[in-house]
Amino acid sequence: MTIQENHPLARYTTYQIGGPADFFVEAVSTEEVLEALEWAEDRDMPVYVFGGGSNLLFDDEGFRGLVIRMRAQGLEVRGDEVWAEAGCVTAKVVKAAAEAELTGLEAWNGLPGTVGGAVLGNAGCFGVETKDVLKEATVYLPGEGVKTLGLEDFGYAYRWSRFKKENGVILSAVFKLTKGEPVAIAERMNEIARSRIQKQPPGSSTGSFFKNPVGDHAGRLIEAAGLKGRQVGKAMISPAHANFMLNTGGASSADVLGLAELVQNEVQRQFGVRLEREVVYVSPILR
Ligand SMILES: Cc1cc2nc3c(=O)[nH]c(=O)nc-3n(C[C@H](O)[C@H](O)[C@H](O)COP(=O)(O)OP(=O)(O)OC[C@H]3O[C@@H](n4cnc5c(N)ncnc54)[C@H](O)[C@@H]3O)c2cc1C
Repeated sequence: MTIQENHPLARYTTYQIGGPADFFVEAVSTEEVLEALEWAEDRDMPVYVFGGGSNLLFDDEGFRGLVIRMRAQGLEVRGDEVWAEAGCVTAKVVKAAAEAELTGLEAWNGLPGTVGGAVLGNAGCFGVETKDVLKEATVYLPGEGVKTLGLEDFGYAYRWSRFKKENGVILSAVFKLTKGEPVAIAERMNEIARSRIQKQPPGSSTGSFFKNPVGDHAGRLIEAAGLKGRQVGKAMISPAHANFMLNTGGASSADVLGLAELVQNEVQRQFGVRLEREVVYVSPILR
């Protein structure tokens, strides 16, 4: 395990935004994750754990403490279940399931990020959320150690798990699938891939920036508010999809947060709806 000092974070995120972490480590095995957590605990140092960096915004000031990038890539098909370590990219899990003729994860074809990020945030697309396919996950809980938690322990809701508020590091997960028909699995995956190409605007983003409010779509409200194409600094509301906030090149975290605030205020003023961020903003000092 090599801990690096004063290490810039931008390159590890789809947004390409983020200043230096005081300390940074890429943990390539579960043992290294636990070692890194112990290293920080011994020094009473704040820790931030992330995976693919496809749903977060690091601050330009970086992070005061240790940032752990989850890179453990273990993956095994076990009967009709798939076990994967948290740093495994979701795409690899989807591919392994399809190759083993297991159905259930086709909708995740093209979902960026890692298993840990998907388990933490109850990622979902085309009708399948983590809560629909997760059997259990092994988690490091500060003060308690490593525990395997069942689906019911995650308190899942729309883009939500209890670990969005409580400390816990996802180490691995087991997805429960069923035997499927290979041609049907391949067709569904192709259909999803086509749909993503059509719907997803190009450019550097974190996918949907705001959660959809109950019974509506954040994108529809932002577009109706006349905000498509609006810019703050180098951050811009995608002219193609109003819930995608793009880094047009060299945007700062302040640009993105400023644009997000402008959107929230304008949508609230016009429609009385307060949009909530889906994207996780990482403050330099943990609160
Ligand atoms: C083009 C694009 C399209 C997208 N489309 C979708 C979509 O259709 N549906 C959807 O739900 N999301 C979508 N996203 C958002 C993102 O891909 C998902 O939220 C994904 O699950 C995040 O995984 P990640 O590994 O990148 O998480 P990160 O961005 O690395 O982290 C996100 C959060 O999870 C936490 N975290 C990550 N790993 C761990 C771990 N092992 N233990 C504890 N906490 C952890 C981080 O601390 C952070 O709070 C899209 C993003 C992009 C860029």
